[in-house]
Amino acid sequence: MAIKLREIVEFKGTLKVGGSGLRIGGAKEGAGIGETDNPIIRHPITHLPYVPGSSVKGKIRSLLESKHCPQTQESGLPCKCGRCAVCDLFGSGDSKTIQSPSRLVFRDCQPTKGTQEVWEEAGTSSEVKTEVLIDRNKGLSYGRIGPRTTERIPAGSDFDFAFSLRIFEGDDTSKYYTLLAEGFELLEKHYLGGSGSRGYGEVAVVVNDGAPMAAHLRQKAKGA
Ligand SMILES: [Zn+2]
Repeated sequence: MAIKLREIVEFKGTLKVGGSGLRIGGAKEGAGIGETDNPIIRHPITHLPYVPGSSVKGKIRSLLESKHCPQTQESGLPCKCGRCAVCDLFGSGDSKTIQSPSRLVFRDCQPTKGTQEVWEEAGTSSEVKTEVLIDRNKGLSYGRIGPRTTERIPAGSDFDFAFSLRIFEGDDTSKYYTLLAEGFELLEKHYLGGSGSRGYGEVAVVVNDGAPMAAHLRQKAKGA
């Protein structure tokens, strides 16, 4: 089946970190003295923390799947049906069921200029939290395991946010905008990154006039 691209719609905004900060883990390259056991992901050149587009995309996808995809609700695994709106938007992830290419691209989110200035002034771009694991029976911390240190992006940090949606001939764009709006709402109610049950990863995505991205998408759905 030939699929003709009609247009690519771009969305820009700001991802705002609230709650207790945001933790998206990076790779540890041999911790030196005073370094954290669990570093966050950083840009290889600037060494500033960033939020990978794949993390945002994956989280929104999994939240939408747990709400809309029977296959996922049963197995807990990503939907690979290739027929539902989630597969249409995010790609089916399985070459056997793939009907059309993924419509969504999420860019990596780099810290805004304002946030970079705040970090510079503070002399740090992250905070390190020390956590102690308690042995429930003895009421003591595990000598061998804890304390361990975990790094996170501080609450109040802002990141430039952008994604694009490819629209093909015959697409029901209103349906896609509505589903995406729901995805952003679920993300804001849930969390991004690690340790969400401990209050990490509370994020909000707003468009440049300050309105929620979800509201912006619902508006677009009405006009589509
Ligand atoms: Zn599916």
